[in-house]
Amino acid sequence: MSPGANVTNPIPRPGILDIATYVGGESETPPGVGTLIKLSSNESALGPSRKAVAAYMAAGDRLHRYPDGPAAELRRALGRRWDLDPARIVCGNGSDEILAMLISAYAGPGDEVLYSEYGFLMYRISALAAGATPVAAPETDYRCDADAILGKVGPRTRLVMLANPNNPTGTFLSRGEMQRLHAGLPRGVIFVIDAAYAEFVDDVGYDAGIELAEASENVVMTRTFSKLYGLAALRLGWCYGAPEIIDVLNRVRGPFNVTSPAQAAAVAALADGAHEDAARRHNECWRTWLAAKLTALGLFVVPGITNFVLARFDDGNRSAVAAGEFLKERGILVRGMEAYGLGDCLRISVGLEDENKAVAEALVEFLTARRKSA
Ligand SMILES: *Cc1c(COP(=O)(O)O)cnc(C)c1O
Repeated sequence: MSPGANVTNPIPRPGILDIATYVGGESETPPGVGTLIKLSSNESALGPSRKAVAAYMAAGDRLHRYPDGPAAELRRALGRRWDLDPARIVCGNGSDEILAMLISAYAGPGDEVLYSEYGFLMYRISALAAGATPVAAPETDYRCDADAILGKVGPRTRLVMLANPNNPTGTFLSRGEMQRLHAGLPRGVIFVIDAAYAEFVDDVGYDAGIELAEASENVVMTRTFSKLYGLAALRLGWCYGAPEIIDVLNRVRGPFNVTSPAQAAAVAALADGAHEDAARRHNECWRTWLAAKLTALGLFVVPGITNFVLARFDDGNRSAVAAGEFLKERGILVRGMEAYGLGDCLRISVGLEDENKAVAEALVEFLTARRKSA
């Protein structure tokens, strides 16, 4: 042992203590406050398919057995559903796990992980956890800017992480912009397309990234069962990509990283097209309603296509913070955006009819009171 080694308390690798702990959407209201309306984590308003719940329950009889490590049946079901080669799919404990595995397998100290300014927080966290350097490219009008990203690519760039559509802005890059961004990347840089909200999107200009992932050696698309499918508690995501990258993920992942109840529920969810359609229709209808309502209240709503809206207040962070508190006192939880550098905004997930109406009514009350006192 070298002299001086291990004479202090254990010390983590450089970068780890620069991580600001990820704080999920709040799930508790203050004591004494009644109804809980949770619109803080972009969860499914309608919840999971009853068939998925039944499959989850049935898996309870086999809890003493290890899961199927390769998740073969689930990968076949995904292959059928999206017309993909199951051999090019890897499942993960949430897509968060897949994003973290990709970053730690391809980037380390001295390497850069690039994403856009208001990109999903986990990219920065996973980059720092791997000892790599996070680099953010500026956005224009809450939109990822392909040229700004390309302008930040250098010899140390290892991965470009892009949520499409993005959380928390809800905006997306068109198929053509994605192709252009990919074409501008050196072949050694992995382009990760995080399509967590793809199932909600019905826009001819949008592409989840399947074609790019199919045709390129350096593209991976990630997806999740946490949002449209309403299975966030089970932690299940998956990715599709070039065989070489899939091989790397299969080497580094835990051998049983996806539980059997999660696999069973997901297979059943994929077979319940009626529930999927209902969730999509509900979201489309109420996102449009919520965005129109908040716009009519004088808030700026970022034009998005996901299961949440990002609304901006017009006096710096003051009103957004106060509005968040006001809602919380009424048992309504939404997401403050300080961690994203968007402290003047609130992110509100689309809920059930009553929940959407409750949040809109409470904001009317808040803004009316604020205008009177101004
Ligand atoms: C919710 C979300 C995820 C995480 O999904 P999990 O599968 O639950 O880990 C990934 N990316 C984005 C952009 C998200 O909003």
